[in-house]
Amino acid sequence: MNTPRFVILGAQGAGKGTQAGRLARRLGIKHISTGDVLRAEIASGSRLGKQIGQIINRGRLVPSSMSNAMMKHRLSQPDCQPGWISDGYPRRVDQAQALARYGKPNLIIVLHLTDRAAIKRLSGRRVCPKGHVYHLRHDPPKKKRGYCDHDGLRLRQRDDDTPQAIRKRLHIYHHETEKVITWYKERVLVINVDAHPSISIVYRSLLKKMNHIAWLSSRLQKK
Ligand SMILES: [Zn+2]
Repeated sequence: MNTPRFVILGAQGAGKGTQAGRLARRLGIKHISTGDVLRAEIASGSRLGKQIGQIINRGRLVPSSMSNAMMKHRLSQPDCQPGWISDGYPRRVDQAQALARYGKPNLIIVLHLTDRAAIKRLSGRRVCPKGHVYHLRHDPPKKKRGYCDHDGLRLRQRDDDTPQAIRKRLHIYHHETEKVITWYKERVLVINVDAHPSISIVYRSLLKKMNHIAWLSSRLQKK
């Protein structure tokens, strides 16, 4: 039987984390968010974690060699044996090439969102100091406006969610990650999903497309 090894790609704000989480629960596989792996590696105090922490503190991008080492280790853990969906990695072609050597993906999911929609979505995002995420329009706090439902802490906008910072990230996305999509199109099955509708509509169209893949449709039916 095939083990699901998925990569989900798409611009910031396309809902990669949300869709990956749903899919992972449905298929009983592990959702691997690179951001979480990075934070865990730093928190572990490992040699690699210390190096990565220093690089991030200086505002630099983590080099591919480090991301590759970190993800190779993470995806080899027992909780990834039933399968995994990677969200946030690979970002560059050299990373995709590395991943193909140690954990060749068998499906690539691309969520499509225009820059305009991405900016609109991300600039409405608010977070509490503990990391709970809200959206001014789509997912506002229910108890008190401007404060976290879970801990009552004040919400704020992350520095990288300002329109200027978002444009910069989208620029990087178009220049680097889109090359990854092109690279994959020649090598792995790619499914494309329009990410503009609501979360549940996007999820349904994703499932519908996955149902056309024989080995996956039997797995999706089981639950
Ligand atoms: Zn909170």
